[in-house]
Amino acid sequence: MTPTPNQAPTQLISVADIIAWKQALEKGSTVGFVPTMGALHEGHLALIQSAMQHCDVVVASIYINPTQFNLSADFSAYPSDVDGDIAMLHSVGCHAVFLPETDLLYPHGVAPDHFDLAGLDGLLEGAHRPGHFQGVATVVNRLFDLLMPDKAFFGLKDFQQVKVVQQLATIRDSNPEIIPCPIVREPSGLAMSSRNRRLTPDQCADASVIFIALQAIADSQGSLSPVEIQSQMTGAIQASGALIVEAIDVVCADDLTCPDPMIPLRNHDKKVQVMVSAFAGEVRLIDNLTVYTG
Ligand code: AMP
Repeated sequence: MTPTPNQAPTQLISVADIIAWKQALEKGSTVGFVPTMGALHEGHLALIQSAMQHCDVVVASIYINPTQFNLSADFSAYPSDVDGDIAMLHSVGCHAVFLPETDLLYPHGVAPDHFDLAGLDGLLEGAHRPGHFQGVATVVNRLFDLLMPDKAFFGLKDFQQVKVVQQLATIRDSNPEIIPCPIVREPSGLAMSSRNRRLTPDQCADASVIFIALQAIADSQGSLSPVEIQSQMTGAIQASGALIVEAIDVVCADDLTCPDPMIPLRNHDKKVQVMVSAFAGEVRLIDNLTVYTG
């Protein structure tokens, strides 16, 4: 199988194909990789499009990774539509899709490896989801080993995940290069997510309050302290009664450290990110925004 840019349709590839594929590539050609768990939406397609701008050949993977779910009910309820996904990948010209079996990724049983993630895995979202980021690092590392991409594209919707994957790439001698991509939102402001498929139309409408609340903090131009931000956002998000806030974290965007909780953001010269997790019924939603640029 010889890949050529912009060929159609999107090819399903195996590990054997990948090796032949890489050998057939012209010298200097770059391979871009977009790992996903499927149930694709415009946010995923934006990653593919970014990869197509940066790389000669683009491979997406679809695999719902068991080791990153800390609730088995969440894993079982995760949406799946592989045929629809392949059609969407084809619509944007993605060259190939890799659908690994669990036996291939976890030949010695479904368990995470352990990486030194510089403490990033235990913080923030990692504190609410023990083991989640080790599971992410495990599957991403194995996919990198199999596909050997030059660049890999990750969405900033999973802000902490981008930091974790950058740390993983550092452990791997900066291989591949990690390219963070902006969050794609619904017209209402709700961050696109595969999990949004599990929301009722009412929950979907109510969930737009998360972005509205984040934007209100950005509009306050650093005048609020982290404690004030947490209180204002919790009140705004829970006002409709449709959402329950799990966490609101105010962190320095570069290293995820916490600024002084009592001091207004504008008294620091650091870029600040607010990260939110909230439940609409049983569906856990996350979002984040740079609220102060320092
Ligand atoms: P997932 O399928 O949820 O594992 O996501 C696969 C990739 O798509 C990850 O890098 C996510 O951060 C990214 N992604 C998911 N939703 C969005 C979005 N709304 N905007 C940008 N990237 C996204």
